[in-house]
Amino acid sequence: MPLSANNPNRTSWLYVNKYSDFPIQNIPFGVFLTREDIITIGTRIGDTAIDLGALHQLGYFKGIPLTDDIFLQDSLNDFIADGRQTWRAVRNRIAEIFDSNNATLRDNTKHKEIVCFRLDEIEMQMPVHVGDYTDFYASKEHATNVGSMFRDPENALMPNWVHMPVGYHGRSSSIITTHIPVHRPQGQTMPEGAKAPVFGPSNLVDFELEMAFITTDANDLGEPIPVDEAEEYIFGLVLLNDWSARDIQKWEYVPLGPFLGKNFASSISPWIVTLDALEPFRVDSPKQDPKPLPYLQTKGKKSFDIQLEVGIQPKDGKETTVCKSNFKYMYWNMAQQLAHHTVNGCSVNSGDMMGSGTISGPTEDSYGSMLELSWKGTKPIKLKDGTERKFINDYDSVIMRAHCENDDVRIGFGKVKTQLLPVFNPKKKKK
Ligand code: MN
Repeated sequence: MPLSANNPNRTSWLYVNKYSDFPIQNIPFGVFLTREDIITIGTRIGDTAIDLGALHQLGYFKGIPLTDDIFLQDSLNDFIADGRQTWRAVRNRIAEIFDSNNATLRDNTKHKEIVCFRLDEIEMQMPVHVGDYTDFYASKEHATNVGSMFRDPENALMPNWVHMPVGYHGRSSSIITTHIPVHRPQGQTMPEGAKAPVFGPSNLVDFELEMAFITTDANDLGEPIPVDEAEEYIFGLVLLNDWSARDIQKWEYVPLGPFLGKNFASSISPWIVTLDALEPFRVDSPKQDPKPLPYLQTKGKKSFDIQLEVGIQPKDGKETTVCKSNFKYMYWNMAQQLAHHTVNGCSVNSGDMMGSGTISGPTEDSYGSMLELSWKGTKPIKLKDGTERKFINDYDSVIMRAHCENDDVRIGFGKVKTQLLPVFNPKKKKK
């Protein structure tokens, strides 16, 4: 099926600002509460949210095999399970419905009132029910930086790192979407020079700039996904702030890896941008040396040129951009990650989420965490209000943005914005 939704020459009868992340060529998918408090699956063009449940009930998806309630759900899991042909047919149809030259919905005031919402009339929800969450560690720059700080600059990368996409299983219960605040976690740490661990608030709360891909039902238990088919099972991508408590992480991670320093919160952007919409932004991956084993060898452009940035906004203050990076720097691509994940027969389901790992670039201003930006706290970052940060302070908001751009079109992810609150106080818990 052709990808007619990506036609760069198409314009919409809905207003789209030229700097918008959401032109008619994007057509991402999300879940929101409407002004009537109804939960629905939707998309977005410019600053208009579109209720796909209502569009379907009004007959606009006639001819596409969809169940009646496919969009009247609180998650995209069932729609994603329908597979690539269906996603493509639905995106193509949405593009047609909102094309400037199509009068059907454009000139139907009554239908438009039912289907279209201003962004201030809706509340974004988690787009999928994430059954399983895996986080990789796929940026060579990040792994080298962290290895140099915590182990040995001469042997910063572990010997396995260049041979496989290293990852760990995360926790899905604490994945949240934008604008849900996070409390500073408490836990065990071993302060420098101390003889015994102490319990208390983490003093080193950090962000990790990541992208994450959402999968469809991919395989049965026991069945590996070949690397050259892996992208067929990727529905789309979101921005991911993989919150990390570095002091808790450092003390707990040996020998089984990340645990409580990571699973207190992971924040994602609410609109899933499909892999189809990102097609024009494919680029070559970094050269892999040594050559990976055959089951990890990919052909063609398997990386994506997605510009990323992170801002820190103090309470009532101005935002300061602290990092600019790019998804194309990743050493291991998504197809390799999914092939590696399933090579032992591990099954992957619709709605599963795979984080890329912190996306650090080659320059000091492209590092994807405060750990690296402030080099373990030795080089504080100056904010616009004159204050300094080594890590994240209480009431700071961390804002991540991502977009792709070429001469024809800009496809973006919007943002994920999260405020860090002080340690949870049980007395303040709402009754
Ligand atoms: Mn991570």
